[in-house]
Amino acid sequence: KEPIGKESNVAKIKVVVRKRPLNKKEISRKEDDIVTVDDGTRLTVHEPKLKVDLTAYVEKHEFYFDAVLNERVTNDEVYRTTVEPIIPTIFQRTKATCFAYGQTGSGKTFTMQPLPLRASEDLLRLLRQPLYRNQRFKMWLSYFEIYGGKLYDLLGDRRKLCMREDGRQQVCIVGLQEFEVSDVQIVREFIEKGNAARSTGSTGANEESSRSHAILQLAIKKHNEVNDSRRFNEGNELKGGKVVGKISFIDLAGSERGADTTDNDRQTRIEGAEINKSLLALKECIRALDNDQIHIPFRGSKLTEVLRDSFVGNSRTLITAPYFDRVKSLSRNGNPKKDQAPAA
Ligand code: ADP
Ligand code: MG
Repeated sequence: KEPIGKESNVAKIKVVVRKRPLNKKEISRKEDDIVTVDDGTRLTVHEPKLKVDLTAYVEKHEFYFDAVLNERVTNDEVYRTTVEPIIPTIFQRTKATCFAYGQTGSGKTFTMQPLPLRASEDLLRLLRQPLYRNQRFKMWLSYFEIYGGKLYDLLGDRRKLCMREDGRQQVCIVGLQEFEVSDVQIVREFIEKGNAARSTGSTGANEESSRSHAILQLAIKKHNEVNDSRRFNEGNELKGGKVVGKISFIDLAGSERGADTTDNDRQTRIEGAEINKSLLALKECIRALDNDQIHIPFRGSKLTEVLRDSFVGNSRTLITAPYFDRVKSLSRNGNPKKDQAPAA
């Protein structure tokens, strides 16, 4: 398929793949890195194969994306390729979503973690410009988690939240704490507080894998001339002013294939089913968006329902897909075993 939307600032959906380096364990097991990033948009997987007569050859599989980043790029370069171009659009009524998609251990959290803070820096810098200051624009932050299909406030003592739609089909998460932030250091503290409140479990595939989706939202709101405090009870869409635009950063739970997990306990299995359901629903929404379909199937999961207003109208979706692939070397054990399927 052709790369989607070559002009990044125009495209509704942008997919950026980031290759991660082999980790110590993979190196110590003498696994071979079989992925190359050939130019800005192409990723090639070199898969060793054996013929019937046991002579080896390599099969090449090429994949194209809006951008492909090699294993040496820094998190800052990831930011500049993905989030930075859409920052100004947040002031022009855009609702953007940025998430990392891939298997546990591919680098989703590593890739997503620094993005909200960097985005805050840039958003706050723009807010300080006279144009926006005079219009009473402010930045608001919220951070919540979807775990087992339920919402929890990561900045509000993990209180369980519920979601409803208001008359204008805006998503409203009742009781979600939102904070007006004007300083990067405060943003950092909120992010750390929220991260500490995240629920993490362990799966057979990766002990540190997260079983929840964490959603950090930065909203730009336009404040009224009068004191806004009396509006506080009208739901978070209006808290402190009307939303101009927003960006949601989502650290998705892992998309392990069934075979990779040793799902021996019931709770883990239920969580896994819930995660797969929401990732599938997300994929279907993205596909519908990509095809310019009018009907976007939000109802598939809590995750997609929460993101509903970010998928309609002036929306932008950024997908960073951390990726790795390796094989145990042919020469060393004779039997190539491919461990991972392409992430995107
Ligand atoms: P995921 O959230 O997808 O399960 P993590 O982000 O936790 O994966 O990454 C798994 C491990 O790999 C972590 O120890 C992380 O520090 C490391 N890692 C991931 N991506 C990179 C990268 N691009 N460069 C260096 N280390 C990375
Ligand atoms: Mg993770």
